[in-house]
Amino acid sequence: MIETTEGIDKTTAVDNCFLPLPLLPLEQLSWNYWWSWSADGTSIFRDLDPDVWEECEHNPRQLLARTAEYRLLQMATDPIYIERVGDLSNRFLRYMARPLTTQIGSSQQGRSPISLEHPVVYFCAEFGVHNSLPLYSGGLGMLAGDHLKSASDLRLPLVAVGLLYRFGYFRQRLRRDGWQEEHYGETYPEQLPIHRTLGEDGIPLMIDVSMRERTVHAQVWRADIGHVPLYLLDTNIIENENIDRLVTGHLYGGDRETRIVQEMLLGIGGVRLLRKLKLEPSVFHLNEGHSAFLTLELARELVKSGLSFTEAAQMVRERCVFTTHTPIAAGNDEFDADLVARAFGPAYHQQLGLKHEEFIALGRVDPTDSKEPYGLTPLAIRTCRSTNGVSRKHGEVSRALWLKLWPGRTVDEVPITHVTNGVHAPTWVAPLIRSHYERYVGHDWSEQTRHKGRWEQGIAKIPDEELWAVHSLLKQRLIAFIRHRSFHARLERGENPQYTKSARKMFEPAALTIGFARRIAGYKRWSLLLKDPERLLRIINSPERPVQFVFAGKAHPQDQGAKLILQQVAQWKYDPRVRARAVFLQDYDQEIARQLVQSVDVWLNVPRRPLEASGTSGEKVAMNGGLNLSILDGWWLEGFDGTNGFAIGSSAQSAEAGDVDASDAESLYRVLEQEVVPLYYERGSDGLPRKWISRMKRSMVTLVPEFNSDRMVEEYARRIYS
Ligand SMILES: *Cc1c(COP(=O)(O)O)cnc(C)c1O
Repeated sequence: MIETTEGIDKTTAVDNCFLPLPLLPLEQLSWNYWWSWSADGTSIFRDLDPDVWEECEHNPRQLLARTAEYRLLQMATDPIYIERVGDLSNRFLRYMARPLTTQIGSSQQGRSPISLEHPVVYFCAEFGVHNSLPLYSGGLGMLAGDHLKSASDLRLPLVAVGLLYRFGYFRQRLRRDGWQEEHYGETYPEQLPIHRTLGEDGIPLMIDVSMRERTVHAQVWRADIGHVPLYLLDTNIIENENIDRLVTGHLYGGDRETRIVQEMLLGIGGVRLLRKLKLEPSVFHLNEGHSAFLTLELARELVKSGLSFTEAAQMVRERCVFTTHTPIAAGNDEFDADLVARAFGPAYHQQLGLKHEEFIALGRVDPTDSKEPYGLTPLAIRTCRSTNGVSRKHGEVSRALWLKLWPGRTVDEVPITHVTNGVHAPTWVAPLIRSHYERYVGHDWSEQTRHKGRWEQGIAKIPDEELWAVHSLLKQRLIAFIRHRSFHARLERGENPQYTKSARKMFEPAALTIGFARRIAGYKRWSLLLKDPERLLRIINSPERPVQFVFAGKAHPQDQGAKLILQQVAQWKYDPRVRARAVFLQDYDQEIARQLVQSVDVWLNVPRRPLEASGTSGEKVAMNGGLNLSILDGWWLEGFDGTNGFAIGSSAQSAEAGDVDASDAESLYRVLEQEVVPLYYERGSDGLPRKWISRMKRSMVTLVPEFNSDRMVEEYARRIYS
């Protein structure tokens, strides 16, 4: 229940059974996240009642339940609105009617093993499909969400498995002194566009996994992402003991023990779920190591049918593929051997036909080293036929990192490849930009991104002045958004009235606007920009060529150092020299990301090489006409060609950390002062920054075809799944 007024539960104040007839298509649309990336989808729901839409955080089920009867009838009798609803509904039905294909990924002669009966099953601990489904924390989840959407658009038979977190990830609020506070909102499944999965007998499916020497039960929910069903396991049911109900409590919260039981549920429970659904996957895709226990469960099934563990492991390998996302050993999931033993209990390794030591050795780089912790990445690499990193550089780094798993080989011989991450264009492109893509590239613009020639011709046709006008409007929208959010955040924090009011006037639409939004983690180097505050102030406050910065990002709740950095940035609000030109937006999420990537002039990224496995936010910016200013690492090392954005530092391997930070900071300031700022402010007699605009077009032409998730999923289908 959301809120009650005098005993009336608002969620049932209007029962959606009583949706007026002309609005009925909205009921069907609200159950499939397809609307969230289709043209006009978001605005149709929003226009039903913009205030309720904001109140219920863009959740279409809640919108339909909570919109007042009179408003519903107002819209149901508005012919233009009804026509839009009808059009969206027809497009949805046509989209869903197009059959799935097995063509993607099939080699020239050979038939693809992937089919409707034998889909790819994609496992991940988090999915960032939409803000209203709060099951993600950051980049990994967003990537997984984009993967599902592209698989659906490409009609690749794919099913996804994850967990339904009761508290999701934390929401961030800054205190008046800039210190981060976390709070967790509870997620109520019955308020989300997800259905409980029933068995053939019509009774809710129940999955059992034994852990910590107890049987834990999970119910199952299904979200629909276009053609792709996303199954979510949920232990928050009365049949479980209280502690087990919290297995799916917090995403990445809790201690190591919670983490391992979550991962057991995802991997082992996920396989058991597929069995109950009578799905026989052609490929299991482990997106990051969290789901690696699934390979053990597959082996256990085979051992039960009479194979030896070695034979079983061989068969499992043939069907499993693994994507690693972490470029440092410490970033990989590890557990003490004792904890593994306690969580699994004695029966599991026996059922695998293994001794306890052999079982634990599966998760060790060196199986003979009894001091080594149990790692999910070594387990996954061992039990999957294919391992890939998420950019070319990350592939290289991963080969070196895991070399020891292949004794006697050289780094180049390590069989780890890469598929560079991409982002889902229809999700991330601003509607206004999208309409220009439709006009100049064609209605099938997102498919055209894969035909570089036609894509390039289309972009070349967009008149400079039109592109600039569109971009400028989007920037105005961003500034309005910043003012609105800041004003309300200041009110809520109880800041002084004058300061609160000044939010209404902050930022200038004409000024060069730079976005910097990412987790506040050490290697992301938030502090780099602040290395020389006086120099930064000169850049920001240049009277003729001002620069303004928008920041957003969360610190891990336990990371005090990160919180201090955040506080330092937040303290700028007290410095009159910075106040009007820099802002921190609290509670970075998909919605804030969308606002930023669609509107900034420049997207800044300064990770310490080579720790940015890929990064994807800059790819979203490129689709919207923004320019990247970034360290040559991850995807940008592949994307930058000298004409389509800006590079900081060189691509050379890092030396001493201190030296690198200092020289990268120097390079950052220099590129800003000598390249970015002058180019942005160089105007012709018509007021247009022609050279800047041509760089925007170069960025669109060269980056969109490479760094979108259709290309990525197609590459997975062709090179990894088949
Ligand atoms: C795209 C996105 C990310 C990933 O961005 P990075 O480039 O890895 O920093 C993280 N969070 C949100 C909300 C996003 O939209």
